[in-house]
Amino acid sequence: MAIRTKYKRVIYAISGIGTAIIIVLTLLISQVSTIATDDKIPFKPHPLPERLANWNDLNNKGDYFDQIEPANFGYLVFSKFPIKVYIENVDSNPQWKETVSAAILKWDNYLPLNLVEQPQDADIEIIRKNPPLDPQKKRASSAETRYQVSIKNTPEGFPYLSHHFTIWLSPTQTGQYIEAAVLHEFGHALGIWGHSPEQTDVMYFSQVREPPPISVRDINTLKRIYQQPTRLGWPVLIAPKT
Ligand SMILES: [Zn+2]
Repeated sequence: MAIRTKYKRVIYAISGIGTAIIIVLTLLISQVSTIATDDKIPFKPHPLPERLANWNDLNNKGDYFDQIEPANFGYLVFSKFPIKVYIENVDSNPQWKETVSAAILKWDNYLPLNLVEQPQDADIEIIRKNPPLDPQKKRASSAETRYQVSIKNTPEGFPYLSHHFTIWLSPTQTGQYIEAAVLHEFGHALGIWGHSPEQTDVMYFSQVREPPPISVRDINTLKRIYQQPTRLGWPVLIAPKT
């Protein structure tokens, strides 16, 4: 079918911390604008996930929503829950997976997550490798998150725009750094595609000596993101042939 072939190409974007100070975004293909403006895909918010709907900040600590960059097709939100996460098994270092799982489960308080055993089943894949070299950067990051967009089919056979994240964590990182890096990169994968200007937030743009826990402002920001319009996750509307 022509419409599916048209979307088979993919979009990559890159984000990283480590030595990187600001978000790096790379769009590798020219299909973005086609997807972004295609009125066959609805552009609207999904219902707010329950845990975020129940989240209330009574002290009005604010957010950094103005730092979040939407893609051409909208905000990077998931709409099918639980979000499936694959964490690489490292035979030589089983502790690594434990540390990574414990860190990402802190986000499960706000969006439901489920660990899966196969990377092809996952929405977010976490692997213990150095991030691929980015020619735009002078030095490689020690942690990095990228996404890829493609057209998948619902169980009913309707095509929809879907996104998949890969998080690379350098094997050279250990201990407390792994936890801080995972918390931060996983925030990007959940849709916080931008950085906080404040050190007390997990999504602060740089590494800090004492990594903070997920903050009220991080969740205020996440909640606002999940109220924004997107083309991700909505079935493509195709007029029936007559
Ligand atoms: Zn970052």
